[in-house]
Amino acid sequence: MSEVTHVEEIFAKNVFTLGKMKQRLPKEVFQEVKRVKDYGGELSKTAANVVAGVIKDWAIENGATHYTHWFQPLTGITAEKHDAFIAHPDEMGNMITEFSGKELIKGEPDASSFPSGGLRATFEARGYTVWDITSPVFLKEGSMGVILCIPTAFCSYTGEALDKKTPLLRSMEAVSKQAVRLLHLFGNDKVTRVIPSVGAEQEYFLVDEGLYKRRQDLMFAGRTLFGAPAPKGQELDDHYFGVIRERVGGFMKDLNEELWKLGVTAKTQHNEVAPAQHELAPIYETANIAVDHNQIVMETMKRVAGQHNLRCLLHEKPYAGVNGSGKHDNWSLTTDTGKNLLDPGLTPNENIQFLLVLASILKAVDTHADLLRQSAADVGNDHRLGADEAPPAIISVFLGEQLEDVVKQLVETGEATSLKEGGKLRTGVSTLPDTPKDATDRNRTSPFAFTGNKFEFRMVGSSDSIADPNTTLNAIVAEAFCEAADRLEGAEDFELAVHDLIKEYLTEHQRIIFNGNGYSEEWVREAERRGLPNIRSTIEAAATLTSDRTVALFEKFGIFTRSELESREEIVYETYAKTINIEALTMIDMAGKQIIPAVVTYAGTLAETVNALRSAGVNEATESLLLTDVTERLTAMKTALDELISAEKEAAGIKDEKEKAFYYKDTVRPVMDRLRKPADELEMIVDSRLWPIPTYGELMFEV
Ligand code: ADP
Ligand code: MG
Repeated sequence: MSEVTHVEEIFAKNVFTLGKMKQRLPKEVFQEVKRVKDYGGELSKTAANVVAGVIKDWAIENGATHYTHWFQPLTGITAEKHDAFIAHPDEMGNMITEFSGKELIKGEPDASSFPSGGLRATFEARGYTVWDITSPVFLKEGSMGVILCIPTAFCSYTGEALDKKTPLLRSMEAVSKQAVRLLHLFGNDKVTRVIPSVGAEQEYFLVDEGLYKRRQDLMFAGRTLFGAPAPKGQELDDHYFGVIRERVGGFMKDLNEELWKLGVTAKTQHNEVAPAQHELAPIYETANIAVDHNQIVMETMKRVAGQHNLRCLLHEKPYAGVNGSGKHDNWSLTTDTGKNLLDPGLTPNENIQFLLVLASILKAVDTHADLLRQSAADVGNDHRLGADEAPPAIISVFLGEQLEDVVKQLVETGEATSLKEGGKLRTGVSTLPDTPKDATDRNRTSPFAFTGNKFEFRMVGSSDSIADPNTTLNAIVAEAFCEAADRLEGAEDFELAVHDLIKEYLTEHQRIIFNGNGYSEEWVREAERRGLPNIRSTIEAAATLTSDRTVALFEKFGIFTRSELESREEIVYETYAKTINIEALTMIDMAGKQIIPAVVTYAGTLAETVNALRSAGVNEATESLLLTDVTERLTAMKTALDELISAEKEAAGIKDEKEKAFYYKDTVRPVMDRLRKPADELEMIVDSRLWPIPTYGELMFEV
């Protein structure tokens, strides 16, 4: 047996928790920190210096040599620049470590090379990182030693958000403020804050590092660009929830321990549907911390995989023909008095506050379905949403039988007098107990499903930051709450007004509710009849960012300005074009230098055999046929390769980013498909000893 790990001992060992602050800080300073953390404002200079000193001591005691302002630029991943805790040595040559309040709170990383969508020209490259006091500092251990990481927001000199965290924090304040207004109307005057909570289930693939390194496509694009299906895929459903292989188990054990040390509540782990695909789910927490933690999860997965001679693939579609990876963003709202606003209670039909919250969310999702879909868009996710795989790109809401029935009654009569019960689960086995059933079954095909006391937004891609989806959710719900509060605050008869409002919202927005099979063709047609948007690609979704409706929403709550949104739209096009460009160049390289030469060698051997058989007077018909099979496909490959090379040249000449992105989508990608098809067919024909790259079978089954 390996060593036993006690979670209580290692949990948050590398985090400067509130508890540690309380222990180390003078009482008044601690209270100041707590106040700023909970209610906003700024630390005084003196307090900041004391806090910085205490953090530095703790970090150095734990082996840290450097600190970094850890931030989340628009690349969607995290960024850091390390500074050692050193200053000028004194006259005697002694080193005294230094770290001031100013260094804790503000940094200027001169990070001018991050995408800014034109928000920030390089000649005025000032960008600042500012400590997010609500997300605890932590220590990152790695080959470079121990680094103190300070979660920060990243803004321009003029205060424009250059990152994912700033708008998220703004959206959290917005939804809190509007939710509190509503709750006060219902007499919950003790509530001062409402906190969005998030739990992100993370899917990923593991692959052997040696094999990975022999695949340029995995190295450069994060997904396979060639590859015939293995004889076995996921058809037997034997991987999903299957026994975890020893090597993967070793990875998971280390991953959990590393995450626990970093204060991440890694809770659930299991094998996913596709071979070599897995999932990790943490316990939910405050939205911005969940966003930070999801970044830590992704980063740690990659680091720990390396220690096991594995690589972790976070791409949404590493392999054609088997499931891709996503991230379920579980979202809810909880008051500072501890009540979950999405908890229906035992009698949701009588719970007017819950029904108003629910109706407002339905209204929000229906009104901004396009924006919500956009928030889950990224290049890799295009292979899932609306493509060969579910969930579809159409936003709809699953409520479950019980709530759907309540909604129906409310729409029809303005009242919901009855409640469908869950009943008992009968197993038919006398020794097994009959247990009460949930009133709702699950619907795995819904992109936005109510699951008991939270919504589960299932469109998000596995490699993407969850900041955008949560910023969007908070914002659209803030808007709906705000409108409801405006109406109700002015109402003469509150009770009556609430009932009317619930009925009105549900009636107007019931088209967004769909409890059926979201993966079916009929649903696509039905959704079209209902007028629901079906936006199939990332770059088609991008325009939503700057629609009048979106700009009005975000500007109203001070979450994004129009120019911040314009810059983000621009970045979508840039990123898209760059990503497909890398994929195309990788294919050109692999096809030209690896696959075609191998096929030529094989064709040569076949030709020699044909000649030899012929001169020996033996029938060479079969070998000839084989040779024809090979050369036909080789010609198809060569033709597509040449086409791809010229399409790439053409693309390079396009100046306008949007036009370029669409050129990649509409012209370059189809050529990539044409190059892949004959190559995959050749993989099934050519002598496996000559095939230059590891096969799907090896990649997915040798883990
Ligand atoms: P399931 O997906 O099977 O419903 P769970 O109920 O365990 O599974 O929840 C899955 C994820 O949802 C977990 O990350 C969990 O922490 C998160 N979650 C549960 N309750 C909430 C909540 N109130 N707010 C946000 N996330 C939640
Ligand atoms: Mg789930």
